[in-house]
Formats: sequence, structure tokens, C-alpha cells
Amino acid sequence: MSEDLDVLRGQVRDLAARWRAAGRFRPRCDAWLRGHDIGFSRELARRGWIGITWPREHGGGGRSNRARLVVTEELLRAGAPVAAHWMADRQIGPAILRYGTPELQREFLPRIAAAEVTFCLGMSETEAGSDLAAVRTTATRDGDGWRITGAKVWTSHAHRSSHAYVLARTGGGQRRHEGLSEFVVDLASPGVTVRPIIDLQGEHHFNEMIFDDVPVPDGWVIGQVGAGWRQVTEQLSFERGGLERVLSTYPLLEALARSVRSGAEPDAVRAVGELAARLAVLRRIAWEIAADLDTGAAPVRRAALLKHLGTTFERDVTETARRVSGVRPDPTAAGLPGLLAQGILAAPGFSIRGGTTEVLLTLIARGEADGGR
Ligand SMILES: Cc1cc2nc3c(=O)[nH]c(=O)nc-3n(C[C@H](O)[C@H](O)[C@H](O)COP(=O)(O)OP(=O)(O)OC[C@H]3O[C@@H](n4cnc5c(N)ncnc54)[C@H](O)[C@@H]3O)c2cc1C
Repeated sequence: MSEDLDVLRGQVRDLAARWRAAGRFRPRCDAWLRGHDIGFSRELARRGWIGITWPREHGGGGRSNRARLVVTEELLRAGAPVAAHWMADRQIGPAILRYGTPELQREFLPRIAAAEVTFCLGMSETEAGSDLAAVRTTATRDGDGWRITGAKVWTSHAHRSSHAYVLARTGGGQRRHEGLSEFVVDLASPGVTVRPIIDLQGEHHFNEMIFDDVPVPDGWVIGQVGAGWRQVTEQLSFERGGLERVLSTYPLLEALARSVRSGAEPDAVRAVGELAARLAVLRRIAWEIAADLDTGAAPVRRAALLKHLGTTFERDVTETARRVSGVRPDPTAAGLPGLLAQGILAAPGFSIRGGTTEVLLTLIARGEADGGR
């Protein structure tokens, strides 16, 4: 790694350590999805660490995807509260950058990079999860703009976001993968209702989003009308190819490693060593994906591979901690018991969110049949 990235890593590590020492957050599992603190996101924004890969004229940092990987890795390892900006930084900003008009880019990218606007992802519907092409939410022409009607489900942080990315059917085309388009929707618009869904941890991070004839300006279409399928597929490289698919349980792994260092059973030490060895390989794959993104490629298959292997690893971190730590999980406790409880309760979601294991394995197998690309 270059010296430059080493410096960046040290700066991110230092900031997270200072916020933690000041009691401004407590490390937790799944913090990229559940640790929501707009104040922390704005602190990162002030340092130029949101939109770090975007051009400077759009408020970005003009740096590489490898630099972004360094930032995200350190934040994930710290279990820091990054959910407020995560979706926009990871995939909506890049989608707007790749496909949005210059006006859309000017309107949104600087404000995302400043953590002034925040995004949630309106993809899934009750009948369109794995089968995303079955989306039924519609967008119809209305004068110069559009009207969106439909319902999205499992939308993380819709109740705290200023805007939503929405995949909707605009019609046209013979096949159902055709006629889909991507929109930016202001969640303060008339006709938007956001209803909470309480999850397994008793927390409110999921929502149902209902759109009833919601007005959207024409300029807020991302890319080409009707080309939403191709565009959203590319977005999945960003959604699946990052270290959040590997390090959701890192605070638990670290606490476990510390506890076994202080004289545990050889079996426990071996189990932690095994996990650390697997983690080294997964980091390597994430690094290769970041390098691919830096060439402008969309490594969809490799990202699916990292997500599958990463979530299997995360599940094994939790299972290993349960097996070897001798600790009783307690959601109300600090340290290992609390982290273990968080890992156990979050684990069912690891292999569902962002594409289920079955779907990813199909994609990986197809890629192999096509020559392993
Ligand atoms: C923690 C979490 C956060 C989420 N956040 C968001 C969000 O912010 N925005 C958003 O839009 N969505 C979000 N989701 C939804 C998520 O993307 C969907 O749950 C996921 O795509 C699966 O869809 P589904 O729940 O409809 O399950 P289904 O697609 O109905 O799948 C049910 C089962 O059938 C299997 N299956 C389905 N199709 C096939 C197939 N072709 N071959 C083999 N097996 C198959 C699946 O693998 C799964 O085991 C989130 C989910 C979780 C768990």
C-alpha cells in the first residue's frame, strides 16, 4: 500500500478512536446499517471522506476506490455509526455520477458529499426482492415531470433520509427487464408515507414506503428512461463489492480475539486464527474489486463472490464466538456479551440483504459457465 493510503488509514483510525474515547459511540456489529449519527457523517464529510472518489468539482475528493476502501475498512473495524451516509456514498452518488445529467450531478453530489442530503434505497417490493425485475411501482408522465405510485418494503432508514432512490416501471419494451427507470424522490413530497417495520432486534431501521401519485421533476430521472435494469445491475458492484459484507461483525471478532489471547483453550485460539486467515483473503478480494472500479469496470460477478464469501465468514464469526467464548449473549450488555447478541440477531439478514445466497451462487455459477469472467 502506498504511503499516502497509510496516512489516510491513520487519520481515519485516529478520528474513530477519538470519538469512541469521548463516548460519542459504542462499537457495534452491523454499524453500517444500524449505527445512524448524522453528526458523525458530517464530521467525515468535513474531512472529505464522503464521496472521496468523486471529482472535486462535484464536492468529491478526487481519490481512488482504494482510498475509499481504506476509509470504509477503518470505519467498519471501529464499528462506527456510518449508516446516515452509507447508501448515498456507496452507490447512489456513483450512480448519479455515472448516469445522471450534469444538472442532477450539480444538484446532488456536493450535498451528498457534505452529508446534507441522505438517501435510502427503494428497490424491494413485496413481490419483487430477488426477482427485482418484477417491480410494480409505476412512474407515469405528467406534463414536464413524473408521478410515482406504488409501495417499497424493507427500506432501511427511509424515516431518517431526505431522499429515496426509487426503481419504477415506466413502460415500453417487450420483456419485463425493459421499461424500468431510476428516480430520485424527495421524501418530503406530498403523497409519500413512511411506515415503520420493527426488526428481530426490536429496532426500527426498516420501513415500508408508500408513494401515492408523488410528483418528481423530469430532471430527477437517473440516466436513460427505460434503461433502469442495466443501470441497477451495475450499481450492484458497488452494493455488494465492499467490506461491509465482511466486517459487519468485526467488533465481535476483535473482542473475541482479545478474550482468547488472555489464556483460553487451544481450540478457541485455533478457531480465531482460522477466521483471521480467511479475513486476509477476503480483504484481498475487496482490494481487487476496488482496483477494478478504479479502471471504470463494474465487477458484478466478483462483487457477488465477495458478498457470498463475506457473509458466510460473518456468520461463522458469530457461530465461533458463540461456541468458543463461553459468554452468554446479552443485548443489554457492553463488550463481548453485547456484541455476541448483536451478531446473533443480525446474522439472519447477512445472506438476504443485497441479494440472497441462492441468487448470488446462481450468478457466480453462470459466470463460471461463461469462462469465469
Ligand atoms: C437487513 C436488511 C436490509 C435491507 N434493506 C433494504 C433496503 O434498504 N432497500 C431495499 O430495497 N431492500 C432492502 N432489503 C431487502 C432485500 O434486498 C430483500 O430481502 C432481498 O432482495 C430478498 O428478497 P425477498 O425478501 O423478497 O425474498 P425472496 O426473493 O422472496 O426470496 C425468498 C427465498 O427464495 C430464494 N429464491 C428466490 N429466488 C430464487 C431463485 N431464482 N433461485 C433460487 N432461490 C431463490 C431466496 O434465496 C430466498 O431464500 C433489506 C433486507 C435486509 C434483510
